[in-house]
Formats: sequence, C-alpha cells, structure tokens
Amino acid sequence: MNTTLSGQRMPVLFLGHGNPMNAIEENEFVQGFRLIAKELPNPKTILCISAHWETHGTRVTISQQPETIHDFSGFPKELYEVQYPAPGSPLLAAEVVQAVKGTVVTPDDKWGLDHGCWSVVRHLYPQADVPVIQLSLDYEKSLEEHFSLAKELAGFRNKGILIIGSGNIVHNLRLVAWDKMYADDFAYDWAREASTGIKKLILEENHEALLHITSLGSPYQLAIPTPEHYLPLLYALALKEEDDTIRFFNDKAVGGSLTMTSLLIQS
Ligand code: ZN
Repeated sequence: MNTTLSGQRMPVLFLGHGNPMNAIEENEFVQGFRLIAKELPNPKTILCISAHWETHGTRVTISQQPETIHDFSGFPKELYEVQYPAPGSPLLAAEVVQAVKGTVVTPDDKWGLDHGCWSVVRHLYPQADVPVIQLSLDYEKSLEEHFSLAKELAGFRNKGILIIGSGNIVHNLRLVAWDKMYADDFAYDWAREASTGIKKLILEENHEALLHITSLGSPYQLAIPTPEHYLPLLYALALKEEDDTIRFFNDKAVGGSLTMTSLLIQS
C-alpha cells in the first residue's frame, strides 16, 4: 500500500461482489481485488454502500465494533465462520449525518457489516485494520435521488475516506445458469449486450441514460430486474470528478446472468 499524501483525493471503487463464496474462494476475482488494493493510498476509513442493506430512509452504521453479518442461506459452514473484525467509526458516521443536507441520515447501532461489504473488503484489507462504516440504500428513493445523495459525499474523498460501492452491474439470480458457473466469462446474449452498453455509457458519462437504464429495453430490464445491485455503481459514478479516470477490472461474466465488472475511479 502507498502512503496517503495530505490533501490527496482518494480513489473511489465499485466492486462486483457476486457469489458470497468469493469471500473464501481463491479465484481471479479475489486476485483482482488484492491487486487493486496495492494501488490505493492508505485510507483512513472506508465508507461502503452495499446492495445488501436496504432500508426505509437512509441510515449509517455507528457501532464501534460492527458485527459480521452472514446475510445469506444455504452456504457451507466455513462461510458462516468468517469474521471480519474491522472497527467502525462513529466519528465518520456523525460527519456523514452532518454533511448530507438533502436527506436525513439516521444513525443505526444495529446493522454491522453485511456480506456485500465484508466479502470484498476482506480481500482489500485482510488485516481488518481500516475502520469501516456502511450507508444504507433507501427503498423510497429514485435513481436520480440516490445519485444526488451520492454527490453530497464527494468531500470525504479529500479527507482520506475510501468510498466503495458494492453490487453487480448485471445481476439476475433467477436466470443463473448454475451448470455454467465455472465456465470462463459465460454470458447470455442479453447480459453481454447490457454489460457492453452500460460500460459504454459509463465511459461516455451519460448519466441521463444510466439513471433511466431500464428504459433502454429488455436486455437492460433483464440485467437489472431490481435496483439494489445497480445502485452502488451510481454512488461511485456520482463521485467521479472531471479529472478522474475510470478503469474497469474483473470485467467478466459468471453463470450467464451476473457480471463481476468493477471500477477504479481515480485522478
Ligand atoms: Zn449481492
């Protein structure tokens, strides 16, 4: 890891988390996470927006020692035994409450770290020595409202905070080809079309289209049947400054209907 220079703007990540087993499996995606971590300046704290914490209203975790939440079922015992004991940061949570003016952010002492967060962050920071807080996704907000809220977090990049959105760009669990889970980069035609189209819109910074993504037709509707795995991408894109560049990594499909495509946004 590199040292943070004072006043340096922190990069922003969007991480495709995929199957919870990525938390403990050794594969090219977790290797991709580890490689990216080596390029990042040392963060003071991590602010994670995970697909797996949806709430009524916007909430932020304030626990001093957040619990590792095993929010999935039917996986091997080994996965339930994983603990990610990173501390929380009530201080940063309080700053988020203060900084966001456009919506009320409510402190939450019940939620800890869900697998959308810890299953990927543990590959970036295996020592669990960087404090982590989570910001929830409000069910009631439109894509535009999420995008506006995300913009209000921009100042934290200059304070050594690493903001991570964790979801998946193409995510349709109902249509997963379980027999092709380990086929390299297998995508259904619609998934490939949506993935290619969305990446193009990202590079063109066509936020208007990205905020109305399902109006682009059935490949996009199949790729994003529900918004929660797509929204963390919008948080990351909203934080891109003009002189930042976007780099894709882990840009592969899994099981036909998921993509692991991840983004590093940095100056
Ligand atoms: Zn997920």
